Amino acid sequence: SAKHGGKRRHATYQPQMHTRVRRRQELATALERAAGRGEIAVHYQPIVDLASGRTVAVEALARWDRPDHGMLAPDVFIPLAEEIGLMAEIGRVVLREACSRVASWRRTFPGMEDLRLGVNLAPSEIGGRALVEDVASVLAETGLPPDRLMLEITESGVMGNPGEALAVMVGLRDLGVSLALDDFGTGHSSLAHLREFPIDTLKIAREFATGLPDSAVDTAFVETIVRLGRSLGLDVVAEGIESARQADAVTALGCAFAQGFYFGEPLAPLGLTFAFGSGSATGAALQVA
Ligand code: C2E
Ligand code: MG
Ligand code: MG
Ligand code: MG
Repeated sequence: SAKHGGKRRHATYQPQMHTRVRRRQELATALERAAGRGEIAVHYQPIVDLASGRTVAVEALARWDRPDHGMLAPDVFIPLAEEIGLMAEIGRVVLREACSRVASWRRTFPGMEDLRLGVNLAPSEIGGRALVEDVASVLAETGLPPDRLMLEITESGVMGNPGEALAVMVGLRDLGVSLALDDFGTGHSSLAHLREFPIDTLKIAREFATGLPDSAVDTAFVETIVRLGRSLGLDVVAEGIESARQADAVTALGCAFAQGFYFGEPLAPLGLTFAFGSGSATGAALQVA
């Protein structure tokens, strides 16, 4: 408040500040009801095997289908959900929906029997043992085999309480679930995390793909991260691949998997159901019609 904030002591009343606070409050109130009203949707983006061009996995990406506001992107509501304590509930909705969808695609489409699923975890979700039980019960309910689920964490998600994060990760690993370090190379990256945590997959932050193949610096970073990942026996996924040139570049640098608009944008489930049904997801790239 103006009374306690040192810098703001002399601030005059600004109507737009008031509006911002009220908007945020409205957003928070609407978000509190969103999960219960079925407004949390999940879109899916293909992850391809660069050697074969096949879609080997999909990443689940949350959307808020807010009445009269359209589809809201996660950066609009995930940080808010974290702040107001809704992330556990929203995360569970996304996990259940995504596991059941992927289990159904695996049963329905020839060639998709091995399809894997990536689901993002917010920092607050990694904090509690409850996560391991939730994941176990969702897998049991939906019939998705544990080794087909990959949980994606960011390094900031394990910074707060590394000891607890490690215990949770070991618990997930014991279930047979695999773990990915998301956006690797940005934020609070530390090689120590790779030594300490039971990680299976590195996802190279899309910032590094931006300059490929022309930037020598970006090329050096991608090459080094790929080599590091491979020498540790990890799968490496290049994120944010938007062009054939970038796809060729990461392939030449030894990266085995990639994800990005070039291969396919995140789609509502029906979009992927059509793609899988027509066999186009097994071709060179998933054509987003
Ligand atoms: P992320 O996990 O790194 O997901 C990849 C993001 O990059 C997605 O944005 C995707 O649409 C975008 N993307 C994919 N390919 C390209 C490309 O070629 N170019 C560009 N410019 N962008 C690309 P989205 O869906 O807006 O999600 C943003 C972030 O929100 C995610 O980053 C993830 O950190 C978070 N998020 C999304 N869904 C969930 C969720 O269910 N739970 C949690 N905790 N976080 C989520
Ligand atoms: Mg991710
Ligand atoms: Mg990422
Ligand atoms: Mg991200």
